[in-house]
Amino acid sequence: MLCRVVGFIRDVPYDKDPAQLKDAIRETVPEVYSVRYVTEKTVSDYRRKKPCAFISFDLRVLPLTVYMFGRHYEVQVPNPMQCARCSKFGHQGKQCRAKPRCSICSLGHEKHRCLSNFAQCVNCNGAHPSTSHECPLWIQGKLMNELRYRAGLTAEQAINIASEGKIAHKKHLFLKPEFFGTYKSFINYGLRL
Ligand SMILES: [Zn+2]
Ligand SMILES: [Zn+2]
Ligand SMILES: [Zn+2]
Repeated sequence: MLCRVVGFIRDVPYDKDPAQLKDAIRETVPEVYSVRYVTEKTVSDYRRKKPCAFISFDLRVLPLTVYMFGRHYEVQVPNPMQCARCSKFGHQGKQCRAKPRCSICSLGHEKHRCLSNFAQCVNCNGAHPSTSHECPLWIQGKLMNELRYRAGLTAEQAINIASEGKIAHKKHLFLKPEFFGTYKSFINYGLRL
């Protein structure tokens, strides 16, 4: 069975493209499979801040660091994938057909138009923005990524532990529909890069 794990690194040199990164990483980690930047590759982005890069490896667990261009970069476990349009987990904004939901107050407008004086999470209805790292569903998704990419567990094992045994198998996922998307992206993540 093919094992593929995904991590990200920060502060990538702004004058390199993903192919150059991949070649440099391959010298010490031959299992590197793909590299892509998180932010769109534009000159203005690069001037503002050094980009982050997603890297996938044909390995069972993530390397702790990669070495390139004379220094080590810490390889971090990715955050759960979250839609910039509807704030749900498991897909990205450009694939989304749902109506926009404000990630601050959960109402039907875009975040930059928000005039609300309260926060409500689209995913758990809690009193925090949908992108909050305090959201129990966000924490669950992050834990699942850590179990899979750091500890080398299968997706089924990771989801079982992250949901504290509430989700033991795919067929039970309908109990928590909002989690289902995260689960799917979890399975497909490496393949989509
Ligand atoms: Zn969406
Ligand atoms: Zn709002
Ligand atoms: Zn929440």
